[in-house]
Amino acid sequence: MNAPKLDKVIIVAATALIAGCSSQQMQTAPAPGRTGPDITASDLKTRLYAYADDSMMGREAGTVGNMMATAYIAAQVKRMGLEPAGDSGTYFQEIHATSTRFTGGPPGTARNVVAILRGSDPTLREEYVAIGAHNDHIGIRRPAVDHDSLIAYHQELDRLGVPSWDRKFTAKRDSLKSVIHINVDSLHRIRPAILDSIANGADDDGSGTVTVLEIAENLANAKVKPKRSILFVWHTAEEKGLLGSKWFTEHPTVPREKIVAQLNMDMVGRGGAADITGGGPYYLQLVGSRRVSTELGDIVEQVNAKREHPFKFDYQYDANGHPERIYCRSDHYMYARYGIPITFFTTGLHDDYHQVTDEPQFIDYDHMKRIADLVRDIAVTVANLDHRPKVDKPVGDPMAACVQ
Ligand SMILES: [Zn+2]
Repeated sequence: MNAPKLDKVIIVAATALIAGCSSQQMQTAPAPGRTGPDITASDLKTRLYAYADDSMMGREAGTVGNMMATAYIAAQVKRMGLEPAGDSGTYFQEIHATSTRFTGGPPGTARNVVAILRGSDPTLREEYVAIGAHNDHIGIRRPAVDHDSLIAYHQELDRLGVPSWDRKFTAKRDSLKSVIHINVDSLHRIRPAILDSIANGADDDGSGTVTVLEIAENLANAKVKPKRSILFVWHTAEEKGLLGSKWFTEHPTVPREKIVAQLNMDMVGRGGAADITGGGPYYLQLVGSRRVSTELGDIVEQVNAKREHPFKFDYQYDANGHPERIYCRSDHYMYARYGIPITFFTTGLHDDYHQVTDEPQFIDYDHMKRIADLVRDIAVTVANLDHRPKVDKPVGDPMAACVQ
């Protein structure tokens, strides 16, 4: 997810060199292994521990970390046998942006990864259902922070029963300092502070990235392929202002008018009750699903209703004028502005958003698997329709500023 225009997200880290609490719930990293055709929580976990590893250095667009991350995605889709659909027969589409936007490296070193699973119908295969996520994150944070202090901070608030939506207010945070200070002093007598400066972005948007990979692997192995083609795009520089999706939609590598829908996932790995009000195993936020096409919004509902345990969709962030402006803050918007029906799927913002603690051990892999299944089923349903989802909402000037 892209940072909001007004920086309402208070960075806890800077003020919270405060505590260490030893009982973080560490899950052990999975042993490296091959993933299989089925969409499984275990495969998602295997992929995310690789993708959100410290070696990717936070995946910031314009840095070596983002090159490594995109190389990983390309290697995976090559192994699946997907068609390359980037520049010059490769899986990469380099975006050209001004050097000032890429502080971490030379200009032109940020790239989308683009691949196609060709459809089975001789006519409809020339149309595309796009599925996307963003491959970048925010890189290295300075100064390094005491990693455990952030976890301790939230544990202390858990103990006090402070709800997650109320944690960004300084008054409450400051009142905790002395309590947590005592803890950190005693802890540091036992071991030094564990400093961390790499924002791993496991949820943002490692979760969306590996979910798209799992869907791709599943469909690539399906006996019967969808009628329309599936276009997979892992956008870069989302965190710099949706630059990768802006570039792709302005320089599409398939005819833009042949993209019949775009399904975007950004931060789909959390959504539990501790993370968000109303959260739980079947919690999912939808944004924009009827903003271009009522029919697409209806299809999403119908596919969900057929599930054994349907999701409880939360549409509150889709409201016109909502202050978080989620509709404008991830890649789907760049498609919607051209009148392409979109749906944005997310489990929502949480306390580890854009912090060094957004890490794979805090991801709910079973929840992610259910979302992967849902989005796969929606994509296949749309790909097999005998018509394109009808655009029945006005389409404005694609170059105008986004208004939610
Ligand atoms: Zn983000």
